[in-house]
Amino acid sequence: MPGGVNSPVRAFKNVDGKPVFFKSAKGPTLIDEDDNQYIDFIGSWGPMILGHSNPVVLNAIKAQLELGTSYGAPTSLESELAKIIKSQVPSMEKIRMVNSGTEATMSCIRLARGFTGKNKIIKFTGCYHGHVDSLLVKAGSGVSTFGLPDSPGIPKELAALTYSCHYNDIESVIEIANEIGDDLAAIIVEPVAGNMGFIPGEQEFLSTLRKLCNEFDSLLIFDEVMSGFRVALGGAQSLYKIEPDLTALGKVIGGGLPVGSFGGKENIMDQLAPIGPIYQAGTLSGNPLAMSAGIALLNALIKENPFDALELASSEIMLHTKNLMNDKGIPFSTSSIGGMFGFFLSENFPKNFQDVLETDDAMFKKFFNASLNQGIYFAPSKFEAGFISSTHDQAIIDQTKSKIEKAIKEL
Ligand SMILES: *Cc1c(COP(=O)(O)O)cnc(C)c1O
Repeated sequence: MPGGVNSPVRAFKNVDGKPVFFKSAKGPTLIDEDDNQYIDFIGSWGPMILGHSNPVVLNAIKAQLELGTSYGAPTSLESELAKIIKSQVPSMEKIRMVNSGTEATMSCIRLARGFTGKNKIIKFTGCYHGHVDSLLVKAGSGVSTFGLPDSPGIPKELAALTYSCHYNDIESVIEIANEIGDDLAAIIVEPVAGNMGFIPGEQEFLSTLRKLCNEFDSLLIFDEVMSGFRVALGGAQSLYKIEPDLTALGKVIGGGLPVGSFGGKENIMDQLAPIGPIYQAGTLSGNPLAMSAGIALLNALIKENPFDALELASSEIMLHTKNLMNDKGIPFSTSSIGGMFGFFLSENFPKNFQDVLETDDAMFKKFFNASLNQGIYFAPSKFEAGFISSTHDQAIIDQTKSKIEKAIKEL
């Protein structure tokens, strides 16, 4: 396998290490092939919000397993998951299931172009929307980690239709939108960014994107593949009280199995085949095993509504870390929303990708490796977010704090 991995961010190339290979996981704990234990702060990049091997999710998968794994035909499970999603994210009036976040954003872009009859797209530098051709322009996550801002293999004629603006900088958007004029199909944004590190969008910035899209007859697409059911039950759009035209989801809604979905206003979604002319399909879309896992996790999540507690837990760990870092004279900044958090080796908390570039790489690498040596599994890149679960109880939080204290002593 290229780089020994099936997804680039799993490699530790950027932190001078080798990826850890895991064989099992339970609650907050990952166990590697050599039986070393780690307290996990990635949570499979989101889905493990109620901990690994959650019995409710596992039982739902086991129950469905006995009934068959795929029928290539509709099931009531798909409707059930769609209804649960819609109950929490009402802007998704109609929903279609897909198999990954990439498929969800790709389909949103096609739908936006087909619906508006326009071609151009605005995205934001450092936002990552999966490895879709049109969206791999100045993207975050692994693209930034490995310094590949514009991937070869994407025709420049296609890339030319994508404009990248600065996150949290509305002036840069207004300027480009005016330049594009009546060919702007959509603005796509992570309302809470998790792929240039964790950087929340500013209210005024996101509200103005909504107004701009109305003005230009363009669609506002919220990519909530990471933030959906992670920062709050209703995603970032519920916190900012903004209704996007289309939303992309993934990660949490599959309960750890491969699921994505996209949805939005009924009149837009009805442009999709078989009702409308815009084509989108998937042999394994709405897979019954994956739907069962998603239904079980979302129902448990809605019942538990752990978001305030998750935010308190990650804040406790991060503030402790900040104090220890500052005692050593190392700049450190941090922020948390619901089950997501982030930290940077910088005095001021970054507002956009440019700010993140300027944070201390060498210190990040040292802190990451020292933490890993203590059994703390943070994301291996400053361009990734942190994730906590409801199984990170006070005992785990206290253990994490003392392990981080030891790690910081080594810096
Ligand atoms: C992870 C992610 C994607 C891509 O999802 P995949 O399931 O990896 O294809 C898209 N957008 C955002 C915001 C993501 O975090």
